Amino acid sequence: MIITKQKDIKDILYSIKNGPVFLIGCSECATVCHTGGEEEILSMKEKLENENIEVSGWVILDPACHFLNDKRLLKNHMDEINRAKKILVLACGNGVQTVSEIFDTAEVISGTETLFLGEIKRLGNFEKRCSLCGECIQDLFNGLCPISRCPKEMLNGPCGGSIDGKCEISSDLECIWDIIFLRFKKKGQLYRLKEIKEPKDWSKSTVMRRTL
Ligand code: SF4
Ligand code: SF4
Repeated sequence: MIITKQKDIKDILYSIKNGPVFLIGCSECATVCHTGGEEEILSMKEKLENENIEVSGWVILDPACHFLNDKRLLKNHMDEINRAKKILVLACGNGVQTVSEIFDTAEVISGTETLFLGEIKRLGNFEKRCSLCGECIQDLFNGLCPISRCPKEMLNGPCGGSIDGKCEISSDLECIWDIIFLRFKKKGQLYRLKEIKEPKDWSKSTVMRRTL
């Protein structure tokens, strides 16, 4: 899931300055993250109206990153959108750009920060699990990913800085190499740590690619 957090309302107000504003949310990840579902859209509407910023309308796209579906759903709101000076999107960066492609003359504002591709641990608690590197090498690490979970992307063992299983970068972060080690140990496969991993083939990275 794409993990987002809502921007500070002061930053959103600074970007909007004045209305009317049309609000767009997303039925999928932003709803689960509580950053752009119906509840958050209605709460944002109230906050803007309290600042005397008119909200011309709102919609929850299903999901916001689906270009054709967005066009179909937004057709029903064209009067409200045409009346708005700005469109505030509470969805991930992908959803914001999909909306921006559809309304290429409107001022589209992002109301969230897009953080990472992650796992839902508990309600409102997410952890990064993938950096979309384009060449998944988790089979080398028992289904764990040191690319997305180690700040140094170590492939051949820990950096030596971990303390009590925590990463030296932050005590909030588990050292993924500690977890990889314990997982191999549990399976009686510690010998696999002796396999030297070649540098990752970043030519397969999808970071700058448009499509596959
Ligand atoms: S190896 Fe790459 S594709 Fe696989 S989980 Fe890690 S970052 Fe994602
Ligand atoms: S302490 Fe562990 S997770 Fe942190 S940088 Fe070093 S090897 Fe990576």
